[in-house]
Amino acid sequence: MRRSPEEIAKMRRAGKVVAEMISETRLKIKPGVTTADLDRVAREVLERRGARSNFLGYHGFPAVICTSPNNMIVHGIPGTRVLEEGDVISIDCGAIIEGYHGDAAYTAPVGDISAAAARLLEVTERSLWAGIDQLRDGNRLHDVGRAVQNVAESAGYSVVRKYVGHAIGTAMHEDPQVPNYWPGTPGPRIKVGNVFAIEPMVNIGTPDTIELEDGWSVVTADGSLSAHFEHTAAVTEDGPEVLTQA
Ligand code: MG
Ligand code: MG
Repeated sequence: MRRSPEEIAKMRRAGKVVAEMISETRLKIKPGVTTADLDRVAREVLERRGARSNFLGYHGFPAVICTSPNNMIVHGIPGTRVLEEGDVISIDCGAIIEGYHGDAAYTAPVGDISAAAARLLEVTERSLWAGIDQLRDGNRLHDVGRAVQNVAESAGYSVVRKYVGHAIGTAMHEDPQVPNYWPGTPGPRIKVGNVFAIEPMVNIGTPDTIELEDGWSVVTADGSLSAHFEHTAAVTEDGPEVLTQA
């Protein structure tokens, strides 16, 4: 799907709301805060900006953000979990403005974290930017995954296979999917007007995942730490434009 400049303008507005959800939740993260507190902060941003949530009610999801601590990779449900010194917490945020979607995520330290955890966060974020940098007219879609995988695996980590990025527009998850690894084929050609949510999930241990009994939370099979960074970015004549950056 190639989006018109008018459509991308709406996605830019949705992206700004998502960026604000990110900055406001980030300010709140400290020991003693619950994941439900963070959800409340994100809800206030949506209300203030007149945006709708694309997470709330999505297949019955009960919150406007996902909160996934430590070995949880994605899709954690906000609740009574109290953040503790040394945790890392992955926050996934989304918003809809005039029918157009934004989607972005980050992993943040809670207080002081180990050097090993800090390195995982740094490498995972760097792998996101390497992927985004491939969003150029004429490149192939799977150049993104190859770039992400290169950064993550060069650092000794693994990339989650089961959950992937996606095109985004009038729905949060549109085709095609965007793997964070080289799937063996180059994939379709990237064109100006395409918009994608690029979202590497990187584990210290193996890439294997387990879904918990709540039907949402996804954790690493080996219990190792995981990080998740995501941005929504449009392909322009001049390369990628990140729509969900503050
Ligand atoms: Mg997301
Ligand atoms: Mg996404």
